[in-house]
Amino acid sequence: MEKKIWEIQFLSPPSVFKYCKKCGKKTAFTCSGQFRINAQRRYLDIWLIYKCIHCSATWNAEVFSRVSPQSIPAELLDGFYQNDEALAERYAMDIAFLRGNGVEVEPPQYSVIGDSFSPNEAVELEIKTAYSLPVRVSSLIRAKLHLSQKEYLQLVTSGIIQSIPTQDLRKCRLNDGITLIFKGCPPYLW
Ligand SMILES: [Zn+2]
Repeated sequence: MEKKIWEIQFLSPPSVFKYCKKCGKKTAFTCSGQFRINAQRRYLDIWLIYKCIHCSATWNAEVFSRVSPQSIPAELLDGFYQNDEALAERYAMDIAFLRGNGVEVEPPQYSVIGDSFSPNEAVELEIKTAYSLPVRVSSLIRAKLHLSQKEYLQLVTSGIIQSIPTQDLRKCRLNDGITLIFKGCPPYLW
């Protein structure tokens, strides 16, 4: 069985949506890549700064609230002070973190890097992603392999596409990645 790997390439971190006081309406905010740190007595507050795309009003996503500096590994703390790009991206791509801050988040734009193939072929397909992505596996597969909803469902219900471990491929989401088994079949079977 041939092994194939698809990798999710993210085009940009997701925008968040919230009410902007200055604009007087709900609008999109994008990540500035900058952290803000406030030291109060023995405690730190750390935020990731977002900016309204219309007026540059800022909104702060809370990373840490009232933590003692000693409780954060020195390297991580340094990353916050230096506005480390990879560290800011890690938070900006974390949809659960953003939703936990009480804003609406649109899943990020992405493309799927890897070879397409015929669903008749016997293939072990691993879909890798650097960041958790809550898109449906079905829509990802259908788009990449050019399958209609009906064709995809037939392949799943007839057991020609399976996953390891077993998940409901009609509705499961990619999240941290998945491995699929295409068992291979003559084209007339679906
Ligand atoms: Zn605004």
